[in-house]
Amino acid sequence: MSRRLLTLALLGSACVGGCADGRLGEQLGQDAAWEPVTVLALPSCAVESPYDAGLTESWAAVVDAEVRRVASLFALPLDGSLRVRLVPVPVPAQAGDEPWRLLMHGVDKRGLAGYAPHGADFVVVYVPDDRSLPDDRILEFLLGGPVATSSVVRHELAHALSQRAGLPADPRWFQEGLAECVEHMDEDSDRLVWPAITPIEVVRQADPAPGALRALLDWPELTTGSGPEDLRPELYDSAHALFRFLAGPHVEAGFAEAARRAAALDRGQLLELEGAWVSWLGALDPLAEVAAGLAAPEADTRDRARWVLNGFSLLWKERGQMRAAVTLALDSIRRDGITSPTATMLALFGPQLLSGDEVLALEAQGDSGVVLAQALRQARGEALDVERLLRAWAALPAPRRIELSMPEYLLGELLKPTDSPP
Ligand SMILES: [Zn+2]
Repeated sequence: MSRRLLTLALLGSACVGGCADGRLGEQLGQDAAWEPVTVLALPSCAVESPYDAGLTESWAAVVDAEVRRVASLFALPLDGSLRVRLVPVPVPAQAGDEPWRLLMHGVDKRGLAGYAPHGADFVVVYVPDDRSLPDDRILEFLLGGPVATSSVVRHELAHALSQRAGLPADPRWFQEGLAECVEHMDEDSDRLVWPAITPIEVVRQADPAPGALRALLDWPELTTGSGPEDLRPELYDSAHALFRFLAGPHVEAGFAEAARRAAALDRGQLLELEGAWVSWLGALDPLAEVAAGLAAPEADTRDRARWVLNGFSLLWKERGQMRAAVTLALDSIRRDGITSPTATMLALFGPQLLSGDEVLALEAQGDSGVVLAQALRQARGEALDVERLLRAWAALPAPRRIELSMPEYLLGELLKPTDSPP
């Protein structure tokens, strides 16, 4: 869920294929000339792929769903005229120094995952070359591997379709802020909705350095001469935070209209808003938002909040809020039982933070509780009741065991089936 590596995208200039100097220009030219193996014409778009028809269909399903969501967000008809080019890049055994290879390996955000050239009828999304990976590894990328392809696709579609909806192609902070925001929106079946909980990338900007707004407004368009400076993740995160600050109050009027109002502000007006932006960032309290989600009457909202609670663990740790987060996980277990995100979070962070009584209370939560509590005891260096653990584990159906994969991992050999004695 929240493990998505964030996309970097190049909002290309009009010179795709035309500017020949520099490695980036060369790459863009190659991408424009690249010949697909399979072209699938869907009602929503054309998917151009380096894979055979069977594998292409799996990718096309992801692309199709994202085109429908993003088009609906901007109230655009599905006319099938956009091309989504899945351009293959080789994935070497060890990541090389080329940025898109590094990204493929999940190393960092320095590289490109895709881009949407201004005014073009296509977007490019880099995918693993099928000659260097077996099919199941390729599908892993698709389903949320090192690069979560669906989030890259959505980000690039946001660039392309926002411009079709009449929103401006620049300045860059606006287009990247918009695309990051769309990328991190929640899904409500076929629709994208404004996230109920502030995305972590925005929260991380809570204390922006002096001059951060100016740097953002001065962010140059990527050109063939651009360097790594222009791909710094904090610029994308700042743009996301600024866009959310400006558009958020207007989302009731529709996403495109909210974006239009953000785009209408000129440089002077934006600089005047710097103080308000910084105060807004400083007042964000994501833990309070998660707590509200966990207390919601709708089971879906509570489930989403549990995943966010677990997914933001590193943030709680950074902010010294881990004990409060653990308490929320315990509250959730009392209400909804042990679930995958709460079991994972408690197994990872609970051993040092839970009291003996709290571990005992977990143990009273049926077979899942016994397994989780024994995993906590193991991590705390306490004596285990192995017989009770094995009885509880044997009684759990497979789906419940999958939810307990982190406690299972902590218990290690204890839960491995042993050979019968000779
Ligand atoms: Zn982008």
